[in-house]
Amino acid sequence: MPKIHLLSPRLANQIAAGEVVERPASVIKELLENSLDAGATRIDIDVEEGGVKLLRVRDDGCGIDPDDLPLALSRHATSKIVELDDLERVATLGFRGEALASVSSVSRLTLTSAIEGAEQAWQVETEGRDMQPRVQPAAHPRGTTVEVRDLFFNTPARRKFLRTEKTEFSHLEEVVKRLALSRFDVAFNLRHNGKPVLALRAAQSEAEARRRVASVCGPAFVEQSLQIDSERGGLRLWGWVGLPTFSRSQADLQYFYVNGRLIRDKLVAHAVRQAYRDVLYNGRHPTFVLFMELDPAVVDVNVHPTKHEVRFRDSRMVHDFLFSTLHRALAEQRPGDSPAPAQ
Ligand code: ADP
Ligand code: MG
Repeated sequence: MPKIHLLSPRLANQIAAGEVVERPASVIKELLENSLDAGATRIDIDVEEGGVKLLRVRDDGCGIDPDDLPLALSRHATSKIVELDDLERVATLGFRGEALASVSSVSRLTLTSAIEGAEQAWQVETEGRDMQPRVQPAAHPRGTTVEVRDLFFNTPARRKFLRTEKTEFSHLEEVVKRLALSRFDVAFNLRHNGKPVLALRAAQSEAEARRRVASVCGPAFVEQSLQIDSERGGLRLWGWVGLPTFSRSQADLQYFYVNGRLIRDKLVAHAVRQAYRDVLYNGRHPTFVLFMELDPAVVDVNVHPTKHEVRFRDSRMVHDFLFSTLHRALAEQRPGDSPAPAQ
C-alpha cells in the first residue's frame, strides 16, 4: 500500500505552474498584470530569444516592501485580497497569489523593487528549487523589475513543448497588445533581442487612444470602424466595431474587455455574432475592440486560473444590451455611408 505524504512546496509549485505557465507569453501576461495592479504608468519589456532566454518587465509602480519580497514569491501570498468577500468586488487583475511562485519554480527569477521614498532597493533571487530566497540590496528607482531567465530549465518535458523563437515571440507580442489596449493611460515598450517592437506612449486624449488602437490593430481597422459609446442600466459599452467591409477570414481582431480584463466568453461571442448576422458573409469574422464596464459585484472573474472566462449575474441583460447596441450601430451605418474619418 503506497504511503501518503505532503508534496514539497517546490513540487506543489511546479505542478501549479502547469496551470498558468504554459509558455513565455503566459509569464508576460502575469508580470504585466502585476505591474498594472501596482499602478504603473510605464512598463518596459525586454525579451530575448522569444522569451525563453530572458523576459524582463520593469515598471514604475508602487514597489514591494523589502520585508514582503520573499513572500511575493510564495504560493497563496497576495496583497490584493484579504477575505472571501473581497472576491465579490475584486478590481485588480491578480488575486490568486500564484503567479510569481509558479514562475519562480520553473525559471531563474530575480525580483528587484523599491518603494516610494526608500533610499535603497532590494532584490531576491531564486533558481527553481531554492524556496528560501536571499534578500540583498540593489539599485532601482521606485517600482519593480522582474527578470525571468531560462524558462523551464528544470522541467525539460515542458520545455519540449515550446515552439520556435518566432512563434513564442508572436504569442508574447499578442499578450502585450491585449494589455496595451486595456490601458491607454499606461506607456508600453516592447523590445525583442534589443530591437524595439512596440513603443506606445501613454494616451492623454481620445485622439491618442485612437492612435494606440491604430498602432496595435493597424490603421485600416480604425479607419473602417465605428466608434460607439452606449450606456444602459448600469452597463456601459464603448470602443470600436469594424464595419462589415472590414471583416476577416479569422477571428483574430477581436478584443473584448470587461472592467479592463480581456475575456473570451460564449455569451459575448454569441451576442456579437447575432448583431453582425445580417451584414456579414458566412465564414467572415467581425473585428472589434470593445470595453464593457459594470459593477464588479455583478460579474464573477474567479472562474478559471487564467481568468479568461467570466460569469455575469444577469447574463440575459448583458446579452441583450450588447446585441442591441451593436445591432443599432451597424444598422445606422447605412449602405453608402462612409465611416467617420480617422484622426
Ligand atoms: P497576485 O497578483 O495574484 O497577488 P502574484 O504571485 O502575481 O500574485 O504576486 C504576488 C504579490 O507580489 C502581489 O500580490 C503583489 O503584492 C506583489 N507584486 C508582484 N509583482 C509586483 C509589481 N510589479 N509591483 C508591485 N508589487 C508586485
Ligand atoms: Mg499576479
